[in-house]
Amino acid sequence: MAITVEQARERVLKRCGPLEHERVPLLEALGRVLAKDACSDIDIAPFDNSAMDGYAVRAANVIGASSDAPATLSVVSHIAAGEYSSVEVGEGQAARIMTGAPMPPGADTVVMVEYTEPGAEDAEVGGTVLVKREPSAGENVRRRGEEVKAGEVVVSAGEVVGPAGVGLLASSGHDMALVYRRPRVAVLSTGDELVDVTEAPGPGKIRNSNSYSLSAQVIAAGGLPYRYPVVRDDPDDTKKALLKAAAETDYIIASGGVSMGEHDYVRPVLEEIGELDFFKVAMRPGNPQTMGAVDGVPFFGLPGNPSSTFVGFEVFVRPALRLMQGHRLLFRPMSRAVLAHDVKKKPVRRYYLRGRVDLNEAGEISASLTGSQSSALLTAAHMGNCLLVLPEGEALFPAGSKVEVMRLDLDEGTPSPVT
Ligand code: AMP
Ligand code: MG
Repeated sequence: MAITVEQARERVLKRCGPLEHERVPLLEALGRVLAKDACSDIDIAPFDNSAMDGYAVRAANVIGASSDAPATLSVVSHIAAGEYSSVEVGEGQAARIMTGAPMPPGADTVVMVEYTEPGAEDAEVGGTVLVKREPSAGENVRRRGEEVKAGEVVVSAGEVVGPAGVGLLASSGHDMALVYRRPRVAVLSTGDELVDVTEAPGPGKIRNSNSYSLSAQVIAAGGLPYRYPVVRDDPDDTKKALLKAAAETDYIIASGGVSMGEHDYVRPVLEEIGELDFFKVAMRPGNPQTMGAVDGVPFFGLPGNPSSTFVGFEVFVRPALRLMQGHRLLFRPMSRAVLAHDVKKKPVRRYYLRGRVDLNEAGEISASLTGSQSSALLTAAHMGNCLLVLPEGEALFPAGSKVEVMRLDLDEGTPSPVT
């Protein structure tokens, strides 16, 4: 009996868990999940500093300052970014200061240069400056330790390291990061009809496109694809290929050989040398989705038709590969979209149709199909950016009605109702 997509997903995720950690150069941590809290070795900012180019003053000395009644201060020092001045700013004094430069002793506030004017001579050291606006006390001063204090966590375990996270790790002294390892994913293609993409297919043959499209999906999901030679439609060849892949990788995916054809050997071989969890999911395309394990290594058998392969990977394999990489958010965001045209389906099974979301003139998310939905064809997936998820039991979805779409244009960053 076919199980539901939800039941299948649950079993798929049960078969795997987060992999070990590895230490990688900081930039390679981008997009990956931090495995251990990273702490800062210093206060960030390391010292009180100016947020603006201007004059460091004592707020108490410029109370009531305005264009009509400016406060006159004598300039005692000039501090550029990267410098440090120990010259104290005393009563009635100011220091010329640049953005990022350390606050001089005695000053508590920075007045932007725009609100000042040189005094009688000039506003350099030895001269005077007129302050034409009263700042609030402490204005334009960035405090030491404002971002994080020495010893505190700057990026936490379980958080995805984005460009800002890379910056935080860098400013807190990390040129390496401890992240979850990427899964090595065996990509097997079964079928006597398959020839390499460099060949012009002879009679009855087709190019092995799945090996590439699946490897691309593995890369897009953060995994490392291991492309294996074509597995012939032969039980011994299938056995050997599965055992070899299990010895060399963390996860095995295969395309083809899982239907009811006379030469579909994946399922019987899996039952013989490994474990079989399920082999039918109530969905279209791709009802013969197959889950199991070989020597403890998870195995997912995708149907051979290119767009069934594509959909099966998105719905089942990608969340599993994310789980292995320590991600908490496993599923693509779902949106509700307005159908731009009628869509019909058979009432049985849930459909995952290749389409795209756009914004319509009313500013709503609209969804439309992007081409023929034959599972042998890939163009609709290529032109699309989402999967329209149409529930079992219903057959007609008129233009203007609302449907759920699985957003392939968005990362798993937003929690969404699981479908
Ligand atoms: P199967 O699931 O093995 O019966 O294959 C179903 C359909 O998918 C057949 O038309 C196959 O020729 C096609 N197919 C299987 N494997 C691949 C592949 N690696 N690349 C492209 N098409 C494939
Ligand atoms: Mg086949």
